[in-house]
Amino acid sequence: MKVLGTRRHPDEAVGPGALAVTVAGVRAAYGRIEVLHGVDLAVPAGSVFALLGPNGAGKSTLLAVVRGQLRPTHGTVTVGDLDVTRTPTERLARAGLCAIPEGRAVFPNLTVRENLRVWTYRGGVSMADVEAATYERFPRLAERRRQLAGTLSGGEQQMLAISRALVGSPRVLLLDELSMGLAPLVVAELYELVASLASTGMTVLLVEQFVTTALAVATRAAIMVHGRIVREGPPADVGDAALGAYLS
Ligand code: ATP
Repeated sequence: MKVLGTRRHPDEAVGPGALAVTVAGVRAAYGRIEVLHGVDLAVPAGSVFALLGPNGAGKSTLLAVVRGQLRPTHGTVTVGDLDVTRTPTERLARAGLCAIPEGRAVFPNLTVRENLRVWTYRGGVSMADVEAATYERFPRLAERRRQLAGTLSGGEQQMLAISRALVGSPRVLLLDELSMGLAPLVVAELYELVASLASTGMTVLLVEQFVTTALAVATRAAIMVHGRIVREGPPADVGDAALGAYLS
């Protein structure tokens, strides 16, 4: 397995399908408790953008707002030229917005193949193409194609969840804690793939607890603390500040 380090240089050409994500003045609340207190974030098209910060900072909440699941009380989110808060989630999906939420989104009682088949129904893509792409990307899933997804290891389930997300050729991929509960080597393997996705015309916005891993693949990063962005910039500039944010 290759080690991390295939980060695309920010000035390299962006794939044709990539879309920018812009968050402007976003406030969001659960009931009466405000969790995001005015968030601005510019995620460039074709970037791998790492959103870091301590537990409870509001990172997952921001992803929920970006994917149109939680409506902000103030502010706007645009994906490409679509206003997320005014666009039905089905339309957002067709425009290429795709999320892998925290915890793996696979059907545990279906086999690997059956999981892939279910996801081809919506996208109008052929099962043969999806299988070929998936098994080339993750040979381990080929060996386990008849195994129930619920009995796969955590890393293999995450591979399957990523394969699902890629069925629809997303243009913006939102990843929440890809590394949750996984061994460092598996995490490195998954992020190796994530880094390569951005060069194929995809924008990746990821939330991650493993700061070093995230910064190794990111082309840009931000730190969120208590519902506010406290630092944003190239990974090298954000690294030290990230450590401070976790310790504070
Ligand atoms: P973690 O890294 O621990 O997942 P996070 O930065 O992603 O944290 P969020 O999950 O966005 O943080 O949570 C931000 C705040 O909002 C927390 O105080 C949390 O308790 C609260 N919160 C999250 N989801 C809900 C919900 N569905 N209902 C009420 N409060 C919520």
